[in-house]
Amino acid sequence: MTDNRTLSQVEKAVSAMRKKVAAAVKRHGKLQERISALQAEGRVVRLHKDAEIVAGDGCTYVKSDSLNTDPDSEWNWYYLLTEVCGLHSCSCEAWKACKHIAWLITDELIAA
Ligand SMILES: [Zn+2]
Repeated sequence: MTDNRTLSQVEKAVSAMRKKVAAAVKRHGKLQERISALQAEGRVVRLHKDAEIVAGDGCTYVKSDSLNTDPDSEWNWYYLLTEVCGLHSCSCEAWKACKHIAWLITDELIAA
């Protein structure tokens, strides 16, 4: 394959690629920071993808989409969903719009 691009076109392409890589590295770093903070607060647990999840009484683990950006990862991060007196709370702390609680409630309704 012949590369017919001019030198300035190649320079532009290289510069664009560098920017993309830098942005990806920054995104990854931010995600790692977020995970570390959540972990320090005991709000997430890391489990092997094949782990048998045995949740405690009134406690369920839900896989976090936003924390697990690598679909081939051996290990995944999970939020803790707890139920106390019929009241659900999720460790993602998106109180108003927690989709995890919505999933849990929907599953329960289907199962019932
Ligand atoms: Zn949640």
